Amino acid sequence: MNASYQEIGEAIAAHESFVILSHVRPDGDAIGSQLALGMALEAAGKKVRLINEDGLPDNLAFLPCSDRIETPPAEPLDVEVAIALDTATKPRLGDAALHAASNAKLWINIDHHKSNPGYGDLNHIDSRSPATGQILYQLITALGLPLPAASRDAIYVAVSTDTGSFQYPSTTADTYRMAADLIDSGLDVGGINSLTYDNHPFRRVELMRSLLNTLELDGGGRVAHWELTMATRDALGLKPEDSEGLIDIIRGIEGVIVAVFFEELPGGKIRVSMRSKDPRVDVCHVCMEFGGGGHALAAGIRMAGPLAAARDRVLAAVRLALPAV
Ligand code: 5GP
Ligand code: MN
Repeated sequence: MNASYQEIGEAIAAHESFVILSHVRPDGDAIGSQLALGMALEAAGKKVRLINEDGLPDNLAFLPCSDRIETPPAEPLDVEVAIALDTATKPRLGDAALHAASNAKLWINIDHHKSNPGYGDLNHIDSRSPATGQILYQLITALGLPLPAASRDAIYVAVSTDTGSFQYPSTTADTYRMAADLIDSGLDVGGINSLTYDNHPFRRVELMRSLLNTLELDGGGRVAHWELTMATRDALGLKPEDSEGLIDIIRGIEGVIVAVFFEELPGGKIRVSMRSKDPRVDVCHVCMEFGGGGHALAAGIRMAGPLAAARDRVLAAVRLALPAV
């Protein structure tokens, strides 16, 4: 059962100290959501800590107040409330972050992943929302909370990055109305887009070159996949965020319905990213078979290696999910 914005507002009003969390390997919606709500609550006079298991990725360091994102301290924080944002399952917050939040007596869970089981005391899961950042904009507006410039910019980046720059079918008229409101309140739209999309490190383009060399089609041309090995990761000195968004390149191939990105992670696990551009193929459903999750058109898995075995198992499941021809 979803808590209303009013109920969440009452819980916020009744407490003073908050830790705001989001998922491991944070993307624009994760960090953007933490900053958006965190800076709004702070402007409303609350005590706020922003904790992420993996800290702030370099590609989001342009966001105002992003230096407020901390890696988890060793000792549990003295906070009353923990708020999990954009995180489909509680373990995806990370062990150290969960330990840091372990003194919280109330958990609030705000997300847009349809696979979210509702692990908070108060849950607001809206799977029709294209980004957690858009839910937070509605929450902040509905509650009449302040919207400082740092929250405004963070919301824009959260929604822009989770909608492929306002392109995916999850984008709604409300999304565009929200963006218009943010611009009306002073957002520098050209500047922030440039910092988000035109400022990649050179090694990311080298990664693209290396990925293209592994590109293959499957399923009669309806599946495209590529892969990143630990050897390439080491050779190029890659950071986790360097591969963010690259899957859109193979998703864009004519005739391709499903794009799959396989990545060897340090420690031997395999990260799988999956995208569909046909509503008949629900990649969240495919990923849940392997313990992953996400959205119907964008989902992922962490699974055991080795890479070749994971690839074969996942591609077999993807082929079964393709519509009959
Ligand atoms: P990405 O491919 O960009 O990492 O993730 C796409 C979507 O799938 C995101 O919404 C993300 O939260 C979800 N996702 C990615 N990896 C996992 C995973 O290992 N487990 C779950 N439950 N969701 C995932
Ligand atoms: Mn998201």
